[in-house]
Amino acid sequence: MDANIGVLALQGNVSEHIDAFLLALERTGHGPSSEVFEVRSPADLADCTVLSIPGGESTTISRLIDKNGLYEPIRQFKGGIFATCAGMVLMATEVADPRIHPLGLMDMVADRNAFGRQRESFETDLPISGLDGGSFHAIFIRAPVVTWADPALNVLARLDQGIVAIEQGKHIALSFHPELGNDTRLHERFLKMNGI
Ligand code: GLN
Repeated sequence: MDANIGVLALQGNVSEHIDAFLLALERTGHGPSSEVFEVRSPADLADCTVLSIPGGESTTISRLIDKNGLYEPIRQFKGGIFATCAGMVLMATEVADPRIHPLGLMDMVADRNAFGRQRESFETDLPISGLDGGSFHAIFIRAPVVTWADPALNVLARLDQGIVAIEQGKHIALSFHPELGNDTRLHERFLKMNGI
Protein backbone atom coordinates (compact mmCIF):
# COMPACT_ATOMS: atom_id res chain seq x y z
CA MET A 1 0.00 0.00 0.00
CA ASP A 2 1.22 3.52 -0.74
CA ALA A 3 1.60 5.55 2.39
CA ASN A 4 1.64 9.14 3.57
CA ILE A 5 4.01 9.18 6.50
CA GLY A 6 3.88 12.36 8.57
CA VAL A 7 6.63 13.42 10.94
CA LEU A 8 5.51 15.89 13.61
CA ALA A 9 7.78 18.84 12.89
CA LEU A 10 7.37 21.17 15.86
CA GLN A 11 10.80 20.55 17.45
CA GLY A 12 13.39 17.76 17.68
CA ASN A 13 14.85 15.09 15.39
CA VAL A 14 12.57 15.71 12.43
CA SER A 15 14.88 15.34 9.42
CA GLU A 16 16.48 12.21 10.87
CA HIS A 17 13.08 10.49 11.02
CA ILE A 18 12.20 11.61 7.52
CA ASP A 19 15.47 10.12 6.22
CA ALA A 20 14.96 6.90 8.19
CA PHE A 21 11.42 6.44 6.84
CA LEU A 22 12.58 7.15 3.28
CA LEU A 23 15.26 4.49 3.70
CA ALA A 24 12.75 2.07 5.25
CA LEU A 25 10.38 2.59 2.31
CA GLU A 26 13.21 1.96 -0.14
CA ARG A 27 14.27 -1.19 1.71
CA THR A 28 10.73 -2.56 1.83
CA GLY A 29 10.34 -1.96 -1.89
CA HIS A 30 7.66 0.74 -1.76
CA GLY A 31 7.21 2.76 -4.92
CA PRO A 32 7.86 6.47 -5.35
CA SER A 33 4.19 7.22 -4.69
CA SER A 34 4.69 6.84 -0.93
CA GLU A 35 5.54 10.13 0.73
CA VAL A 36 7.19 11.31 3.93
CA PHE A 37 6.45 14.88 4.98
CA GLU A 38 6.44 17.32 7.90
CA VAL A 39 3.30 17.82 9.98
CA ARG A 40 2.68 21.19 11.62
CA SER A 41 -1.07 21.66 11.41
CA PRO A 42 -4.32 19.69 11.61
CA ALA A 43 -4.57 19.98 7.79
CA ASP A 44 -1.16 18.29 7.39
CA LEU A 45 -2.23 15.55 9.80
CA ALA A 46 -5.43 14.92 7.85
CA ASP A 47 -3.27 13.75 4.90
CA CYS A 48 -1.35 11.17 6.94
CA THR A 49 -1.70 7.40 6.98
CA VAL A 50 0.64 7.16 9.97
CA LEU A 51 2.46 9.68 12.16
CA SER A 52 5.86 9.83 13.82
CA ILE A 53 6.47 11.86 16.98
CA PRO A 54 10.24 12.33 17.21
CA GLY A 55 12.56 12.86 20.13
CA GLY A 56 13.34 16.36 21.28
CA GLU A 57 12.15 18.24 24.33
CA SER A 58 8.81 16.85 25.45
CA THR A 59 7.78 19.99 27.38
CA THR A 60 8.35 22.11 24.24
CA ILE A 61 6.66 19.65 21.88
CA SER A 62 3.68 19.39 24.26
CA ARG A 63 3.31 23.18 24.40
CA LEU A 64 3.52 23.45 20.59
CA ILE A 65 0.99 20.62 20.07
CA ASP A 66 -1.49 22.67 22.13
CA LYS A 67 -0.54 25.96 20.47
CA ASN A 68 -0.93 24.58 16.94
CA GLY A 69 -4.35 23.08 17.68
CA LEU A 70 -3.03 19.55 17.23
CA TYR A 71 -3.95 18.03 20.60
CA GLU A 72 -7.44 16.76 19.74
CA PRO A 73 -6.62 15.95 16.08
CA ILE A 74 -3.72 13.72 17.22
CA ARG A 75 -5.94 12.10 19.85
CA GLN A 76 -8.53 11.36 17.17
CA PHE A 77 -5.96 10.26 14.56
CA LYS A 78 -6.89 6.83 13.20
CA GLY A 79 -3.44 5.64 12.06
CA GLY A 80 -0.52 4.30 14.04
CA ILE A 81 1.97 6.54 15.82
CA PHE A 82 5.71 5.86 15.95
CA ALA A 83 6.85 7.69 19.09
CA THR A 84 10.47 7.97 20.14
CA CYS A 85 12.01 9.39 23.31
CA ALA A 86 10.11 12.66 23.94
CA GLY A 87 7.39 11.09 21.76
CA MET A 88 7.11 8.17 24.21
CA VAL A 89 6.51 10.65 27.04
CA LEU A 90 3.74 12.34 25.06
CA MET A 91 1.94 9.07 24.23
CA ALA A 92 1.48 8.11 27.90
CA THR A 93 -1.67 8.51 29.96
CA GLU A 94 0.35 9.83 32.91
CA VAL A 95 3.62 11.78 33.26
CA ALA A 96 4.82 13.27 36.53
CA ASP A 97 5.54 16.69 35.06
CA PRO A 98 2.81 19.36 35.05
CA ARG A 99 4.26 20.97 31.92
CA ILE A 100 3.35 17.91 29.86
CA HIS A 101 -0.19 17.51 28.52
CA PRO A 102 0.02 13.81 27.66
CA LEU A 103 -1.93 12.52 24.68
CA GLY A 104 -3.05 9.43 26.62
CA LEU A 105 -2.97 7.21 23.55
CA MET A 106 -1.09 4.36 25.25
CA ASP A 107 -2.15 2.98 28.64
CA MET A 108 1.13 3.55 30.41
CA VAL A 109 2.99 5.85 32.81
CA ALA A 110 6.20 7.49 31.60
CA ASP A 111 9.06 8.88 33.63
CA ARG A 112 11.16 11.60 31.96
CA ASN A 113 14.97 11.57 32.18
CA ALA A 114 14.81 8.24 34.00
CA PHE A 115 18.51 7.44 33.68
CA GLY A 116 19.72 10.44 35.69
CA ARG A 117 22.86 12.48 35.20
CA GLN A 118 25.37 9.65 35.24
CA ARG A 119 23.83 7.97 32.26
CA GLU A 120 22.31 10.90 30.41
CA SER A 121 23.47 9.38 27.14
CA PHE A 122 24.62 5.86 26.43
CA GLU A 123 24.44 3.19 23.78
CA THR A 124 23.68 -0.48 24.22
CA ASP A 125 22.86 -3.53 22.12
CA LEU A 126 19.29 -4.22 23.04
CA PRO A 127 17.43 -7.48 22.41
CA ILE A 128 13.96 -6.58 21.11
CA SER A 129 11.16 -9.11 21.25
CA GLY A 130 10.08 -10.29 17.81
CA LEU A 131 12.71 -8.30 15.90
CA ASP A 132 14.60 -10.50 13.43
CA GLY A 133 18.29 -10.03 12.79
CA GLY A 134 19.68 -9.81 16.33
CA SER A 135 19.83 -7.06 18.91
CA PHE A 136 19.32 -3.38 18.07
CA HIS A 137 22.08 -0.85 18.66
CA ALA A 138 20.07 1.61 20.76
CA ILE A 139 21.16 5.18 21.46
CA PHE A 140 19.66 6.70 24.62
CA ILE A 141 19.77 10.48 25.09
CA ARG A 142 18.24 11.80 28.33
CA ALA A 143 15.78 9.01 27.80
CA PRO A 144 12.46 8.29 29.47
CA VAL A 145 11.18 4.87 30.50
CA VAL A 146 7.74 3.43 30.99
CA THR A 147 7.33 2.59 34.68
CA TRP A 148 3.89 0.99 34.39
CA ALA A 149 1.89 -0.35 31.46
CA ASP A 150 -1.47 -2.04 31.22
CA PRO A 151 -0.80 -5.79 30.90
CA ALA A 152 -2.57 -5.75 27.53
CA LEU A 153 0.35 -3.81 26.02
CA ASN A 154 3.17 -5.68 24.30
CA VAL A 155 6.49 -5.00 26.04
CA LEU A 156 9.34 -5.37 23.53
CA ALA A 157 12.37 -4.49 25.67
CA ARG A 158 13.32 -3.42 29.18
CA LEU A 159 16.35 -2.26 31.12
CA ASP A 160 16.76 -2.03 34.93
CA GLN A 161 15.08 1.39 34.98
CA GLY A 162 11.94 0.23 33.18
CA ILE A 163 10.36 -0.54 29.83
CA VAL A 164 12.21 0.98 26.85
CA ALA A 165 10.19 -0.40 23.91
CA ILE A 166 6.47 -1.11 23.86
CA GLU A 167 3.55 -1.52 21.46
CA GLN A 168 -0.18 -0.96 21.74
CA GLY A 169 -2.27 -1.77 18.68
CA LYS A 170 -0.86 0.26 15.79
CA HIS A 171 1.39 2.37 18.04
CA ILE A 172 4.99 1.82 19.06
CA ALA A 173 6.91 3.83 21.67
CA LEU A 174 10.68 3.68 22.14
CA SER A 175 12.91 5.33 24.78
CA PHE A 176 15.86 5.46 22.41
CA HIS A 177 16.60 6.92 18.96
CA PRO A 178 16.21 4.41 16.10
CA GLU A 179 16.47 7.28 13.60
CA LEU A 180 20.17 7.76 14.47
CA GLY A 181 22.13 5.14 12.59
CA ASN A 182 21.36 3.04 9.61
CA ASP A 183 19.17 0.34 11.11
CA THR A 184 15.59 0.82 9.93
CA ARG A 185 14.17 -2.45 11.27
CA LEU A 186 11.93 -0.70 13.80
CA HIS A 187 10.65 1.81 11.26
CA GLU A 188 9.95 -1.13 8.93
CA ARG A 189 8.21 -3.08 11.70
CA PHE A 190 5.97 -0.06 12.39
CA LEU A 191 5.05 0.28 8.70
CA LYS A 192 4.20 -3.42 8.56
CA MET A 193 2.07 -3.17 11.74
CA ASN A 194 0.10 -0.51 9.92
CA GLY A 195 -0.39 -2.54 6.77
CA ILE A 196 2.14 -0.49 4.77
N1 GLN B 1 14.44 14.16 28.13
C1 GLN B 1 13.72 14.63 27.02
C2 GLN B 1 12.29 14.99 27.38
O1 GLN B 1 11.68 14.46 28.26
C3 GLN B 1 13.66 13.63 25.91
C4 GLN B 1 15.01 13.50 25.29
C5 GLN B 1 14.98 13.09 23.87
O2 GLN B 1 13.93 13.09 23.20
N2 GLN B 1 16.14 12.82 23.37
O3 GLN B 1 11.79 15.85 26.74
